[in-house]
Amino acid sequence: RTLEHFKNHISDQGTERLSQVDTIEFNHVYFAYPGTSTPVLTDINLFLKKERVALVGLNGSGKSTFIKLLLRMYDPDEGTILINGRDIREYSLVELRSNFSVYFQSMKNYCFTLKENFTIADDDQAEENVDKRILTALDLAQCEDILQKTRLRGRGLNTSITRLFDHEGIELSGGQYQKLSIARTFFRRHTALILDEPSSNLDPIAEDQIFQSLRCITKGKLTIFTTHRFSNVSLADRIIVFEKGKIVEDGSQRQLLAKKNRYYEMFNIQKEKYNSDEKS
Ligand code: ADP
Repeated sequence: RTLEHFKNHISDQGTERLSQVDTIEFNHVYFAYPGTSTPVLTDINLFLKKERVALVGLNGSGKSTFIKLLLRMYDPDEGTILINGRDIREYSLVELRSNFSVYFQSMKNYCFTLKENFTIADDDQAEENVDKRILTALDLAQCEDILQKTRLRGRGLNTSITRLFDHEGIELSGGQYQKLSIARTFFRRHTALILDEPSSNLDPIAEDQIFQSLRCITKGKLTIFTTHRFSNVSLADRIIVFEKGKIVEDGSQRQLLAKKNRYYEMFNIQKEKYNSDEKS
């Protein structure tokens, strides 16, 4: 189900309304996962406004954990997280989470129809232009190939995904599943977007096109995304570099490259790797 149903051991006492996300602030945030003593985030301080922010860093450096704390899947051990200047614990979980449309790598699609994959978690099903909104989201997420398959079946958005329960259904590839999940993220009503590795299974062309779509969709919205591919980082107005649970650099791509520090090193290692891959 949707994020709103993920309660964990978080107390949901807040009563404040949240109609949109304008700013996010982390103040001296420390965190270790329950039952462990290894700090995963250490003294995180950050102020984000309506901008596109890329979180970069090696695997295990704390990027996903940062996102989990922001969505209150866990609470920090120390420090505070504020949205629009208010501690996020003052908002109800539903208010907080309903502002974000989130793409996680582990997101599942359902063995229902294409349309139900969009409407199942939302209360918008009865809305009259819902088909149009779904088609727009599919278009932005470069799902033309999926639509093509459904047209061959003659059932359009009512085509089942997987043939598990419907022999007229269609099977999708890993990359197509990922694009469908991204389309669902675009479809969901939101005031801020979070995307955790949105292009890991995509071919370079689809990846490039999705990042073009993201450029439009994220205009004027607070957007946080993680990516391993430095070519995608150019979407970001601002880059935050995580290392072992700490923020070690923060700035625009141009600023960080000029600094010739951690970001610059990672950027060059990747560039060399791609060059040698191309040659081999
Ligand atoms: P990144 O997103 O940068 O790859 P993560 O935030 O996923 O990093 O992970 C940071 C650290 O937290 C890693 O050492 C990881 O093993 C650990 N970790 C992640 N999830 C859990 C969990 N549910 N329980 C315990 N440790 C976790």
